[in-house]
Formats: sequence, C-alpha cells, structure tokens
Amino acid sequence: MARLILIICAIGLVWLLLRRALPRREADDRPGKREQYTPTVRCHICGAYLDRRLARRDQTGYCCQSHDDNA
Ligand SMILES: [Zn+2]
Repeated sequence: MARLILIICAIGLVWLLLRRALPRREADDRPGKREQYTPTVRCHICGAYLDRRLARRDQTGYCCQSHDDNA
C-alpha cells in the first residue's frame, strides 16, 4: 500500500513539473503578444476597413487601392 501511495505521489510530482515546464495558455495574453495587431483605417469612399499599410492617403482621408483609378 505504501508503494502505491509513493507511485501516485511520484506521478503527481512529475505532472506538476511538466505543467510548470510547458508554456501555459495564459502566456498568449502577454502584453508583447497583445500588441501584434494590424492597424486599420476606414476608406472614406466605400467605408471598408483595411490595413493602413495598404491604404492610400489623399486630401480627404484614406481610401482603398481599388479607388486609385477613379481618383
Ligand atoms: Zn474603398
């Protein structure tokens, strides 16, 4: 009986060590990870939200690349 309790304790200790060693799910909520978003802007012609790096800026604001021909 004492051997069974010792085995269960050993399994529990290994499980605790593995839990501590492996990365937890809460690690995804770190501030560094949270800042990895894509800044978006709103097209003033069609109202669609798009990546700011892909948007074209003119006098009235941002617009899609598809409106370049019309402008
Ligand atoms: Zn647009």
